[in-house]
Amino acid sequence: MALPEGFPQITGAVLTDPDVTAAYATDRCSPVYGGVPLAVVLAETTEDVAAVATWCYVNDVVMVPRGAGTGLAGGAAAIDGCVVISLGRMTAIKEISVADQYAIAEAGVINADLDAAAREHGLMYPPDPSSFEICSIGGNVATNAGGLRCVMHGVTREYVLGLTVVLPDGRIITTGRRTVKGVTGYDLTQLLCGSEGTLGIVTEVTVKLKPAPPIPPTTVAAAYPDVVSAASAVAAVVRTGVVPALMELMDRGTLECVEDLRPFGLEEETRAMLIGQGTTPEDAAVLAREFDAAGAHYVVVSDDPAEAAELLAVRRAAFHAYEHAGNMFSEDVGVPRSKLPEMFARIEEIAAKHDVRIPTCAHAGDGNLHPTLIYPRELTEVPQAVWDAADEVFQAALDLGGTLTGEHGVGVLKARWVGDELSEDVLDLHRGIKAVWDPKNLLNPGRGF
Ligand SMILES: Cc1cc2nc3c(=O)[nH]c(=O)nc-3n(C[C@H](O)[C@H](O)[C@H](O)COP(=O)(O)OP(=O)(O)OC[C@H]3O[C@@H](n4cnc5c(N)ncnc54)[C@H](O)[C@@H]3O)c2cc1C
Repeated sequence: MALPEGFPQITGAVLTDPDVTAAYATDRCSPVYGGVPLAVVLAETTEDVAAVATWCYVNDVVMVPRGAGTGLAGGAAAIDGCVVISLGRMTAIKEISVADQYAIAEAGVINADLDAAAREHGLMYPPDPSSFEICSIGGNVATNAGGLRCVMHGVTREYVLGLTVVLPDGRIITTGRRTVKGVTGYDLTQLLCGSEGTLGIVTEVTVKLKPAPPIPPTTVAAAYPDVVSAASAVAAVVRTGVVPALMELMDRGTLECVEDLRPFGLEEETRAMLIGQGTTPEDAAVLAREFDAAGAHYVVVSDDPAEAAELLAVRRAAFHAYEHAGNMFSEDVGVPRSKLPEMFARIEEIAAKHDVRIPTCAHAGDGNLHPTLIYPRELTEVPQAVWDAADEVFQAALDLGGTLTGEHGVGVLKARWVGDELSEDVLDLHRGIKAVWDPKNLLNPGRGF
């Protein structure tokens, strides 16, 4: 397919062959099938992005920003006739300041690479989505990504100090600062965190770093006869006031999916597994005590980093294992942590009622669950029973004082439910903000809210 006349010359590449651009049509959200883009731009500089945005703005062409395409809500899926603007080639880490504990990275830098670079200086970048080895920092900002360590350290937005952003009409702005404090003007940096590529295209990110812990955490793992007991253990740990370095829960359905993908010796009587880490042996002892008191079959405590990595690999494999099991409709609800046992019980009831597989893992220390509805891979439409079950899971979370999405974002997948959580007045404010940033509604339209 030929490029339209006047399309800007850029440093990066422009792809138009539909067989090639098809690879950029979707993200990792099975139910959302992307459209056919006019072109996919592999930007290499902020100026590339600005030139393409300017052209799109003048010619009324829709733009879809794209990081690494690991999103689970369809937010980076192409729209028919759009230009996909991929930041994947912008992978320079421009600065690591040891003295001031920040890093400046281009949007396409992979999360794990940023953390690894920080660790060479005795620092760390804490937010670590399970996809940390494959997702980009720009995508993390756009979705305000969470991760395993976020129970202790907080999510992406707590680390973003400043941004370089291309507006939908091609103007380049910078927001924020690199100082510890700063309150000049409205906080546009925070507004952009979690904006799902609907307000601007992030090309560069300044993030806070923290000192890397001097000793590895102590890991505690427990196996349970039922998932509700495991969830009660989480609520009990929260009540003690100890903040774990991470606390992850997997139900039987998840453990079976992982066992199918990479066998780890799942025992018959294990219906749920909880993995926690304490930064001190004392904290780990509290976790072990509470895990045990909630009715675990067994609790193991280890300060061996290799053993910890092996246990966490089981949890980090969960989404790959769900994808291996079939098409997946991944939910991302959050509930107050005291409500976790009830939420897990409701998910089990909903799965049984609709006869849908809903393996669930959770960043349990954050009250953030991923009930994942699995349906046969050969189906190109989401079955009605899956929509109905998904609807009931969302409603259950909202009934318990929770939220539709803790970290994956609304994207396309959850747009139909946003009005259940946000009032009409709040949605009006969202529409007003969008209209100021993107008056022609050309940047990722229909996503986010
Ligand atoms: C195996 C697996 C495990 C996962 N685990 C987690 C987890 O633990 N926690 C979690 O939060 N998420 C998780 N995710 C989801 C996903 O990895 C995150 O949402 C991640 O932040 C997306 O980053 P990305 O670079 O892939 O973005 P993409 O998927 O490319 O895009 C996501 C959204 O951000 C927008 N966007 C991307 N880059 C930019 C940019 N530079 N400027 C403006 N908008 C942009 C896109 O338009 C889209 O709306 C997981 C996904 C997988 C496949």
